[in-house]
Amino acid sequence: MNKNQTSKHHQLIIIGAGGAGLMAAVTARDLGIDAAIIEGNDRIGKKVLTTGNGRCNITNESTAMGTDEAVALSRKYHSNQTGFPLPVLQQFGVRQTIDLFSTLGLPLISLEDGRMYPMSLQAASVLDIFQLALEDRNVPVYFKNKVVDVIFSPNHPRFTIKCRTESEEQVVYTSEYLFLCTGGLTAPKTGTDGSGYVLAERLGHTLISPVPGIVQLKLDYPYLKELSGIKFEGLGHIIVRGEVIRSEYGEILFTDYGISGPPILQLSRKAAYHLGSGEAVTLSVDLMPGRTEEEVVEFLDMHWGIFGHRTVADSFIGILNKKLVPVLLKEAEIDQQPHLLCQDLSWKTKKKFYRILKHWEFKVTDTNSFTNAQTTAGGIDTVELKEGTLESKLVPGLYLAGEVMDVDGDCGGYNLQWAWSSGYVAAMSLAKHLSSV
Ligand SMILES: Cc1cc2nc3c(=O)[nH]c(=O)nc-3n(C[C@H](O)[C@H](O)[C@H](O)COP(=O)(O)OP(=O)(O)OC[C@H]3O[C@@H](n4cnc5c(N)ncnc54)[C@H](O)[C@@H]3O)c2cc1C
Repeated sequence: MNKNQTSKHHQLIIIGAGGAGLMAAVTARDLGIDAAIIEGNDRIGKKVLTTGNGRCNITNESTAMGTDEAVALSRKYHSNQTGFPLPVLQQFGVRQTIDLFSTLGLPLISLEDGRMYPMSLQAASVLDIFQLALEDRNVPVYFKNKVVDVIFSPNHPRFTIKCRTESEEQVVYTSEYLFLCTGGLTAPKTGTDGSGYVLAERLGHTLISPVPGIVQLKLDYPYLKELSGIKFEGLGHIIVRGEVIRSEYGEILFTDYGISGPPILQLSRKAAYHLGSGEAVTLSVDLMPGRTEEEVVEFLDMHWGIFGHRTVADSFIGILNKKLVPVLLKEAEIDQQPHLLCQDLSWKTKKKFYRILKHWEFKVTDTNSFTNAQTTAGGIDTVELKEGTLESKLVPGLYLAGEVMDVDGDCGGYNLQWAWSSGYVAAMSLAKHLSSV
């Protein structure tokens, strides 16, 4: 070891002080494990601060109502191994999360759609509470230490963790157990640059190509400038090879590059995967999801019949967002006839309106980048992890938690829930293992 190197040993080292790492550290310490965290940033949970528009949507209680809560919750997650999240969520789900935060001194409140937040509605409170919990438990956090390499040895100590500090000093830590809680690729400014994937790959793990999840879609559409900023309630469908593969309802927002809003963010993961494999992806928007196609035809025919003396543009007043109408007239190819009356609409033009109102189609060209995304779909292959314990099948003593692995959740608090659940389960599994040896 040269003179710039220092070395510290802990029973367990956790790389990453995000949601998963923090939950793992507090749980491990409560279970009597000598745990320490190594974090590249100068503070804990930089990403948590940005979550839920600064309010931190910690979890979602809407799945905690039925009889089989964990099964309902697990449907909110996606992975190449669809059944992988369930045994983790069965051990630590929404109720346990609410209870644990209450124990730590952070009461939660439920707002729209079951989304739960700290009562203060400040993401910073979540970090303050974790900071206090770490201090109460004397958990060391080594800040400004970027882990650049991890070496596994079958002898003791098993893990040698090499870090680089801001001053280019090399620091070496050693441990018997290692938790990789390094997150994915989203919001790289918060410290997640994908270096955790490199560390896992060096230890023999396989990376399933990450793509941005919960992200806006880019569209190839000639009238985006006119539409930018318009919000409306609608039903979005992602269509691949002529088949609807996922649908979501809610407030949709056009932007100058494409489309956003909760339903679009929810659909984006499917779009990203299919675009990534070179397939054509179409977004179809239903502007009148409350009515069937037949009902829309019947409704419009009656409406145009009653108000036949009005212009076509005026006939949509009170029915659609007014700002959408000029573009719909372009789509129906009657924008050059501003005085066209409903009574003079041709059958061909009417059919165009029926189609646009129920199936307004857009070519999806791309998603926005990881910088704008809220989660990473893909990650370290869960086939290489033991179900229900999160220990590596390849490297004894290595556990993964959080977004680093190939599990991602829907919008609405489910990604942080995965961080809490997997962080807790990794720590609990290690404690059980230690008590059995
Ligand atoms: C803008 C935004 C809003 C979001 N809002 C919500 C929301 O409201 N609700 C919700 O459920 N989810 C939300 N998410 C998603 C959620 O924040 C993440 O899924 C979750 O924080 C992942 O937790 P994690 O612990 O796995 O990783 P992270 O929180 O990303 O933490 C990983 C940590 O590891 C550190 N690290 C990485 N590599 C190294 C290394 N080599 N050496 C040392 N340290 C390293 C990083 O600095 C970082 O602190 C949002 C995400 C974004 C970007």
